[in-house]
Amino acid sequence: MFSPIKKHIALISVHGDPAIEIGKEEAGGQNVYVRQVGEALAQKGWLVDMFTRKANSQQNTIVQHSPNCRTIRLTAGPEEFVPRDEIFAYLPEFVNKFLQFQQENQINYPIVHTNYWLSAWVGMQLKKTLDIKQVHTYHSLGFIKYKSVNTIPMIATTRLSTEKAVLETAERIVATSPQEKEHMRSLVSQKGKIDIIPCGTDVSHFGSISRVAAREKLGITPETKVILYVGRFDRRKGIETLVRAVGQCQSRKNQQLKLIIGGGFRPGQSDGKEYDRIASIVDELGLNDITLFPGRLNREILPTYYTAADVTVVPSHYEPFGLVTIESMACGTPVIGSDVGGLQFTIKPGETGLLCPPKDDAAFAAAIDRFLTHPEWRNKLGINARERVEEIFSWDGVASQLTNLYLDLLKQPSAKQQLSSVSA
Ligand code: UDP
Repeated sequence: MFSPIKKHIALISVHGDPAIEIGKEEAGGQNVYVRQVGEALAQKGWLVDMFTRKANSQQNTIVQHSPNCRTIRLTAGPEEFVPRDEIFAYLPEFVNKFLQFQQENQINYPIVHTNYWLSAWVGMQLKKTLDIKQVHTYHSLGFIKYKSVNTIPMIATTRLSTEKAVLETAERIVATSPQEKEHMRSLVSQKGKIDIIPCGTDVSHFGSISRVAAREKLGITPETKVILYVGRFDRRKGIETLVRAVGQCQSRKNQQLKLIIGGGFRPGQSDGKEYDRIASIVDELGLNDITLFPGRLNREILPTYYTAADVTVVPSHYEPFGLVTIESMACGTPVIGSDVGGLQFTIKPGETGLLCPPKDDAAFAAAIDRFLTHPEWRNKLGINARERVEEIFSWDGVASQLTNLYLDLLKQPSAKQQLSSVSA
């Protein structure tokens, strides 16, 4: 479709490479969000460049995804994996490389849309020298994260002050749920302009296979009840709660059960250690026979797993949005989630799924039993879930809302223009 926009836009995602395989160490929702938003914006006629840090010397510097959408990897610090809490030191180099790229390619980006606090810092530095506007999506709030961890990293102070500064100075903040906006207001600052634009999902990809075909493909009999988790192996994802809930649910005694825990992990890394911990709890509870760890699930196979499941469980301690929830819902599989953050927005309790207090094994067990023993009710919620995603959470709809936001900002004078009109 012809579109008249043809304006450059830079999406910055320093630690979440949009071109990388999802489901690996530290790669998750942010990578998916940036990639899908980028591709959907390009469909609407924007010329999209997505900037990230090169984390492997074997990677291509530029990856062209579609005619108007590419990932550009800037070398800032070692060309190897660096945990996100250690990336800050390399950000000045990232800023310089971005400026160099702009100059060499003769591109001016009127808007930079930054993702996560590291990129927020980059955006704020760019604003000091360039006549640009900044839009920011948090993906995670330090004020919430540090409440739930035992050791607070050295970088915490810098992160918290950056998160406050960007809220107060960016031309616009994108909150992905009303709950996230409320947290920004109550925990970070009363100042700043916030729009709510949710995350999206590919409604034609998720929902593309029938339940019968999905189960056949995975070799799961129609009688088996399947409980699914998809996501990173990270303690804050609450996989332990799910495993303990399955250990005590009634259905374990009288139903044929399968617990599938999907997600990649690498031995010796933080996700590998979490996998070991979870596997030992599975063992301790005698669940080895019914538990399956299929490893990282690629995008092609994901709809098959979601569709084959009776219920997906998202037991996170906190979740700013939670893409897995809407992917499962798009496949017609209701979700049991923790009663936190974005899950309170995506899941309508009793209509598209159920919410349970975080870390409450008994509540999750009861919710799982309810789904497994009421298949007709489960199917009804699955249909509602699909409808809710079609209505509110498609990437195309998200890109339309972002397009309106960007076009609105482009009409407004920038901070630099406002300053020069005051001093004239
Ligand atoms: N994911 C995947 N394969 C896996 C595990 C996860 O493709 O094996 C994807 C999942 O489909 C979702 C994303 O990783 O799109 C996780 O996003 P979410 O917002 O649920 O969690 P986050 O990783 O941001 O905490």
